[in-house]
Amino acid sequence: MKTIPLTLPGDASISRSLLDCSPQELTDVVNALPAGKKRANGKAAGVPAYRIRQIQEWIYKKYARSFDEMTNLPQALRDGLAATTTLTPLKPVTQRVSKAGDTLKVLFQMPDGETVEAVLMLYNRRRTLCISSQAGCAMGCTFCATALGGLRRNLTAGEIVAQVLFFARYLSDAAEGPKMRVKRPTTVTNIVLMGMGEPMHNYKNVWTAIRRLTAADGFALGARHITLSTVGLIPMIDRMADEGLQVNLAVSLHAPNNDLRSKLVPPSRRYPVDDLLASVRRYIAKTNRRVTFEYALMRGTNDSPALAEDLADKLQGILCHVNLIPLNPIPDSPFQPTSDKDTQRFANILLARGISTTVRIRRGIEIDAGCGQLRNAAAS
Ligand code: SAH
Repeated sequence: MKTIPLTLPGDASISRSLLDCSPQELTDVVNALPAGKKRANGKAAGVPAYRIRQIQEWIYKKYARSFDEMTNLPQALRDGLAATTTLTPLKPVTQRVSKAGDTLKVLFQMPDGETVEAVLMLYNRRRTLCISSQAGCAMGCTFCATALGGLRRNLTAGEIVAQVLFFARYLSDAAEGPKMRVKRPTTVTNIVLMGMGEPMHNYKNVWTAIRRLTAADGFALGARHITLSTVGLIPMIDRMADEGLQVNLAVSLHAPNNDLRSKLVPPSRRYPVDDLLASVRRYIAKTNRRVTFEYALMRGTNDSPALAEDLADKLQGILCHVNLIPLNPIPDSPFQPTSDKDTQRFANILLARGISTTVRIRRGIEIDAGCGQLRNAAAS
């Protein structure tokens, strides 16, 4: 299946996404509408603040799909917004539910034809959404499917938020397909920035999105329910420590020494393991927040008992949790997943050394729900 662009980049027919607007920008958009009230001198009278609040409520609390639903707005305003703006900048082009009915993966197409993935995972009490921050990725991790095509472009803040609203609409409406093993209406409870892209390489837009997702007049999700995962761009970890929001930090470590890590995660050449761990210590000193280290276990590469011991040495005294991830095998890759037995052996060494450790349950392998795989499957 080839991805066919809907419109060309920069095409004037692409309507402006209201999800890219701050409350002030939303006000400007509304005031610029031809239907807006004019004073005698022809200047816009200015929309009342409560109208802007109503529109935000429709978008972020009632998850409106269209302006028609916004029944407490004057018809002229609804028509004006519908003619020039959009609430749905992402079009779902592929949707797959896992056999167990607990994982839904969606491939979205953006107005310029680029595609990104997001995955909804249902747990007992949580409904966790894994979203993308970039189309493609520039980091080049050698075991990752997203790395294969390189970076296409950054997502806008609105495109990041749009992924969340798509699933919020789905979860709030029992009539919306496809079917999953979940009682609806319900809502998104957790968001992880672990889809395509490196969130710290698109820092500004990612944080604009996080602010809108946590704002009381936005999606209003608690910051503690959001996790940002990074390859470890040190200056950005320091910057995140100053954001003043309790968003969780996860660092994709994958190896305890820099020789090995640089082969798996190329940015490690510029930001070596020991410097990275020093930045994590600074982050914890400032925020008092526990940090997660992700470690994808690859057979014969980074899964030996000796490396588990080295990892435990490196993490001593750091307020952290280790998430061991069985590798998602990707086609034609030299890397294979570690066996369950060796995964447990690795976990046991960390646990014996007093490091809080869990093995992440694999989800949705048969629907290509790992790490850029759906996009690659769709392009072949
Ligand atoms: N760029 C960010 C976030 C996206 S990737 C980061 O690197 O953290 C989210 C996680 O999936 C990272 O820990 C990444 O290393 C891991 N990952 C990538 N490809 C994988 C694969 N094939 N199997 C298991 N985990 C993978």
